[in-house]
Amino acid sequence: MKNKILIVGAGITGITLAEKFASKGSEVLLIEKRDHIGGNCYDFKNKDGILIHKYGPHIFHTDYKDVWDYISQFTDWFYYQHKVLGLIDGRLAPIPFNLNTLYELFPLKFAQKLEEKLINKFGYNKKIPILDLKKTKDKDLKFLADFVYEKIFLHYTEKQWSLKPEEIDASVTARVPVVISRDDRYFQNKYQGMPKEGYVKMFEKMLQNENIEVQLNTDYKKLKNKIKYNFLFYTSPIDEFFNYKYGRLDYRCLKLDFQTFNQESYQPSAVVNYPNNYDFTRIIEFKKLTQQNHRKTTIGIEYPGNEGFMAYPVLDEKNKKLFQKYLKEAEKLKKQNIYFVGRLAEYKYYNMDEAVKSSLDLFNKINYGRRK
Ligand SMILES: Cc1cc2nc3c(=O)[nH]c(=O)nc-3n(C[C@H](O)[C@H](O)[C@H](O)COP(=O)(O)OP(=O)(O)OC[C@H]3O[C@@H](n4cnc5c(N)ncnc54)[C@H](O)[C@@H]3O)c2cc1C
Repeated sequence: MKNKILIVGAGITGITLAEKFASKGSEVLLIEKRDHIGGNCYDFKNKDGILIHKYGPHIFHTDYKDVWDYISQFTDWFYYQHKVLGLIDGRLAPIPFNLNTLYELFPLKFAQKLEEKLINKFGYNKKIPILDLKKTKDKDLKFLADFVYEKIFLHYTEKQWSLKPEEIDASVTARVPVVISRDDRYFQNKYQGMPKEGYVKMFEKMLQNENIEVQLNTDYKKLKNKIKYNFLFYTSPIDEFFNYKYGRLDYRCLKLDFQTFNQESYQPSAVVNYPNNYDFTRIIEFKKLTQQNHRKTTIGIEYPGNEGFMAYPVLDEKNKKLFQKYLKEAEKLKKQNIYFVGRLAEYKYYNMDEAVKSSLDLFNKINYGRRK
């Protein structure tokens, strides 16, 4: 008899699990409460025909060869290397802060002195979290650390999280370190790219299997006692699954204001950050990510806050403790073949590759267990 698998949430996690189990002959029902697949990686062509990312810019980058090989079965790539500029003291300079940023923002002699001190202290090609750089005793490096902290991290973090950099989990600020090299790229991963025809086209290919049924506009809450399954993979918010019995996990939300201009180009790079000015954090120009040729261009102005879609888990002590309570409950359900996986169910700041990795690892674990 075929295994019946229920997957809740058609983001990259749910879609990867659906593809893997269906390819081994299981019957998969994938339900999604939104009216589209793709979760937060969803892209679509707007009324002007420009491909945009509805929930913010998504660049695929990974060091996991197995993840890259797996995903590459379903798409060709533009071999894109992501670069971000930030408006600092009225100038556009590379972010993460690196040696090029140093020369862009400071007079030559001072930049040379700082470069030498940075290399002597930390070594070339090293990445230093800003909170570590701030601990330095040298007066020039201390000046630099305070400058970078103030101009790049402090106000950006306050806008993004409504918190100071010290108040959020150190792993979050460490994601954008100070880079002691001339490498301007935002990510240094071995494999980086943009799916040639977009994410949704890639996901559609993954779901092209007669063993997979997708039901959109379908909320798990309304269906939960009506469907029989051997395995349930839940990729939606873990607190919702347990009816918020210990309380709600917090998320930072985002809203994007999309605007289209009758001109080919809007800004010099796909993403420009505004750490210090305005209420928004960044402007994204989608054509510069997707490599689309079009006589018009669409931008998205990103506003963090408590409204919009749930973008990032708030990894403070309160929420980490709360999550542990739900995790304990979730662990007990493994005996009934109920698994919690993905960004919302594991309450993690997962990138796409980590979401795929987590799904592939879970699939391998279960599939291997069954074969034994
Ligand atoms: C602004 C932004 C930019 C990002 N940029 C990048 C990037 O450049 N590179 C990168 O690698 N990663 C990026 N990410 C991370 C990426 O979005 C996630 O790794 C990925 O979306 C995780 O997929 P998921 O399937 O676990 O979760 P999701 O994409 O959130 O999918 C979960 C799905 O579950 C559905 N759902 C929720 N509740 C229910 C319910 N009750 N019933 C049915 N369905 C339900 C949701 O509608 C959603 O479709 C970014 C994230 C954000 C917010």
